[in-house]
Amino acid sequence: MLPLVALVGRPNVGKSTLFNALTRSRDALVHDQPGVTRDRNYGVVRPEDKRPFALVDTGGIAGEDEGLAGATARQARAAAEEADLVLFVVDGREGASALDDDILAWLRKSARPAMLVVNKTDGLDAQACINEFARYGITDVIAVSSAHRQGIDTLIDRVLGRVPEEGAATELDADPARIRVAFIGRPNVGKSTLVNRLLGEERMIASEVPGTTRDSVSIDMERDGRLYRLIDTAGLRRKARVEEAVEKFSIVKTLQAIEQCQVAVVLLDASEGITDQDATVLGHALDAGRALVVAVNKWDGLTDYQRQQAEALLTRKLGFVEWAEAVRISAKHGSGLRELFRAIHRAHASATHEFSTSEVNKALEIAYETNPPPTVRGHVAKLRYAHPAANNPPTFVVHGTRLRTLGDTYKRYLENFFRKRFKLVGTPVRFVFKEGT
Ligand code: GDP
Ligand code: GDP
Repeated sequence: MLPLVALVGRPNVGKSTLFNALTRSRDALVHDQPGVTRDRNYGVVRPEDKRPFALVDTGGIAGEDEGLAGATARQARAAAEEADLVLFVVDGREGASALDDDILAWLRKSARPAMLVVNKTDGLDAQACINEFARYGITDVIAVSSAHRQGIDTLIDRVLGRVPEEGAATELDADPARIRVAFIGRPNVGKSTLVNRLLGEERMIASEVPGTTRDSVSIDMERDGRLYRLIDTAGLRRKARVEEAVEKFSIVKTLQAIEQCQVAVVLLDASEGITDQDATVLGHALDAGRALVVAVNKWDGLTDYQRQQAEALLTRKLGFVEWAEAVRISAKHGSGLRELFRAIHRAHASATHEFSTSEVNKALEIAYETNPPPTVRGHVAKLRYAHPAANNPPTFVVHGTRLRTLGDTYKRYLENFFRKRFKLVGTPVRFVFKEGT
């Protein structure tokens, strides 16, 4: 389970700057594409070669609802109350203020493990800044500068030293024959209806996987002779009341489900188009590099004209994940489910395919010869050889010289070439460029 870390602090101390410094994606190419929505309050910190953790920027905690409106603010606050670690961010330039004292009071009441992060210490005496807050009695203290990325890596190490280790990961990974699927999406798109439908079908054998942590529930099931594990999502838990369900829609749970799955199925409501919240959920799945299937639900309720409109909208708005298959389904009537599971299989097969070095090299050679990189200010990149580095998602390392002159257009060309040649659908594809031979 992904540990949860919360940023709290009064306005202007630099929480969102710190949030960005911590969650900054390594896959910038993906995020420059139009249509991808970055979540400004929830993200996953993925330090290289270290374990990831979920991060929520509460925006504020002491009753001031600035920035975040109603339910979102309540949800962020609820997340902070459940956090494995709270980072109490203060402004080292301005010192302690009355608003900081209010947050300290909240922190003591919540009794969460805490670390004091003294920000904006660039150009200042860090120890003096820290001493300003000595009376808060928080022993775990660190001075950073979020804007200048000073102390960020140390902060990450210290956070990892204080949050619980993922426990059940090995057990979850134990069965390679079982595809781990998460059904995710904003409230009311039909996740519970779909899961109940699947579990209600006779030819399926389902059983609950004993909860590993807190209220997590995963379900093992068999369908058409294949094995799946449905990773904990809102849809797998019973809902008490509708309002409560909406209120309880937990982005943190979604992040954790994405982390544990191999294939993320993002549900959309065909009758409502694609909302910002949908785009944000998609963005989280992309950040994690998960194989992806888009399930356009409630297809049953549409007239022919509405269907045409919905198709046009999908084409326009899902351009940034054009490699993902979109399947039209009706969870209510059970239609489209066979196609949905075929798409899940194709995505899984593409994401987990083992490549040989020679086939990858060959692909690079042909791509390079067919269309060499353009000359940029008198320089031209040379691509020498390539090899596979990882799967899920497939990752290729390309060696060469002057690689810094390779533009996004050429990188996309390479990606599309590889996708086509290896018939990769439903999975992101990553390239790592290494200068030298
Ligand atoms: P939030 O309201 O707590 O989310 O604060 P922001 O992240 O929006 O930052 C408030 C202001 O402080 C912005 O003008 C930032 O540029 C500035 N700021 C944030 N971090 C630092 C830092 O490490 N050093 C300095 N000098 N300024 C910072
Ligand atoms: P969740 O919040 O994503 O789990 O959504 P629910 O499964 O609770 O569904 C929300 C509402 O959409 C309920 O009233 C469902 O009956 C309705 N619904 C779900 N799937 C379909 C579908 O395929 N077609 C239609 N017309 N309604 C659906």
